[in-house]
Amino acid sequence: GDEITADMVDELAHKHFPMCMRNLHECLRRDRHLKHYGRLQYGLFLKVLGLSIDEAVAFWRRSFSNIQDDKFNKEYRYNIRHSYGLEGKRANYAAKSCQQILTSDQPGAQDSHGCPYRHFAPDNLQTALLSTYSSQGLTSSDLPEIMHTVKAGHYHVACTRVFEITHLAQGVKKGDGAGGGESVTHPNQYAARSRELEK
Ligand code: SF4
Repeated sequence: GDEITADMVDELAHKHFPMCMRNLHECLRRDRHLKHYGRLQYGLFLKVLGLSIDEAVAFWRRSFSNIQDDKFNKEYRYNIRHSYGLEGKRANYAAKSCQQILTSDQPGAQDSHGCPYRHFAPDNLQTALLSTYSSQGLTSSDLPEIMHTVKAGHYHVACTRVFEITHLAQGVKKGDGAGGGESVTHPNQYAARSRELEK
């Protein structure tokens, strides 16, 4: 996709990110830190979104604002470069799909990675959805339908419904999904479609 810069991430997060990435972004801003699997999930998503290696280093350096440069360079720079295929075995790591996020590396209580539709307790999920998406048109009257889907274990369907509700102003109707009736299968698909609708 198009290149994005570290400075653009806040605004992109607020306009275009699915709940999993919004949650990681908010946790990063709040704690000035993310644990390993959170960095991995969010970092690969941002890479695919168009953050270059230099912008990624700048983004994480600024985000981890309460550690010193030498700690950052020692503990984090290598891993960021590694995820861009620039260190170690130089693999070109893909961003995780919803299926991978839903089923691998289950988050513990202190973690912020994973899929909120699956991994948050129902009360927390409802509170998080409202505080995250009410400015984009989600209301408490939307929650019963979403929570019904969550309860049935159809997490990506819930995420797709939230996409539709929060893109009403861009002309998205129920059943349109993330384009052509497709449901959400990848966080980068969600963000890409949202950005496309803004154009
Ligand atoms: Fe993220 Fe996929 Fe879960 Fe949506 S369904 S919050 S895109 S992991």
